[in-house]
Amino acid sequence: MKKQHVKNSRAYCLGVESTADDFSVGVSTFEGEVLANVIDAYVPMEGGIHPREAARHHAEVASTVLEEAFAKSSVRPREVSIIAFSQGPGLGPCLRTGATIARAMAAYLDVPLVGVNHCVAHIEIGKLRSGARDPVTLYVSGGNTIVAAFDSGRYRVFGETLDIALGNCLDVFAREAGLRQKKGVPFGAAVEELAAKGKRLIPLPYTVKGMDMSLSGLLTAATALVKKKECRLEDLCYSLQETAFSMVTEVTERALAHTEKREVLLTGGVAANRRLQSMIKVIADEHGAEFNSVPTEFAVDNGAMIAWTGVLAYTNGLVTPISESYVRSRWRLEEVEIPWIKSEGLS
Ligand code: AMP
Ligand code: MG
Repeated sequence: MKKQHVKNSRAYCLGVESTADDFSVGVSTFEGEVLANVIDAYVPMEGGIHPREAARHHAEVASTVLEEAFAKSSVRPREVSIIAFSQGPGLGPCLRTGATIARAMAAYLDVPLVGVNHCVAHIEIGKLRSGARDPVTLYVSGGNTIVAAFDSGRYRVFGETLDIALGNCLDVFAREAGLRQKKGVPFGAAVEELAAKGKRLIPLPYTVKGMDMSLSGLLTAATALVKKKECRLEDLCYSLQETAFSMVTEVTERALAHTEKREVLLTGGVAANRRLQSMIKVIADEHGAEFNSVPTEFAVDNGAMIAWTGVLAYTNGLVTPISESYVRSRWRLEEVEIPWIKSEGLS
């Protein structure tokens, strides 16, 4: 028998995030107060994320990140009521590292384990931090590009990328353009800075198929142009942003028109981009919907979102026995039942 979660007046969930390049531990109360959200990002020496290298990074920093999360939250390990972890989707070796740490802690502390879907967690922390209740969400990050909204018990995917994610597109372009990644300055932010100095719109492939998007043709074309060195890098960054952001904005607008929701939520690492924010705000305004953005700390991959979603799942009767805690690297958003929204009376 697992011990009961409320052993004193406050109950806490510790969340472990490790789907890709970030290793993060967050601590949330059962009321949704985030007490700690410590993130350590893996920055490759060169090239993209190598899953095994990223997993090695996560294993190396795990104890330091955990200690810092306990220190910042002033919660002692024995006071933790449940352990939540990112069960998928993501890179197998990275997910397995986080899952192993979460399982070990849950077993050692003798508390329930809760496997959380990473995409659901992005939406839930976005709602918590922005106050949005029932939004159309545009979730754009290094690994995902999804337009989703809640309907009939689940978050439904209205549109998504057919190939690479928006953040990945910006990152690969930046690398091909010879930009250097610095700790604390993501490639997307470097592209944004250059794009702000761009003036000329260079025609690039714009691919929306039904409600889905394809970004690989755009990346190939922009990369070919950067190698030719015939146009200013600032103009190329500007054109890449305008083209890619118009695609995700078009799909978000159609989802908004179809669902008639009253709110839009922009989240994921790329949501830090001010040009994207202004484009999404324009379509929200045009449809009489409220625009909601998420502070960067909670828009990027973070442990607090896993902790908070763990609370929502656990308080709605969901736990993950160790025997079912295998990672799900292709776990889709719409596969997950969301019992807590019905209990809020929104469905
Ligand atoms: P995540 O996968 O949610 O951790 O977010 C990481 C992604 O966000 C990477 O692809 C970054 O390049 C991207 N990103 C971060 N800041 C910005 C920005 N200001 N503009 C565009 N993309 C960004
Ligand atoms: Mg990341």
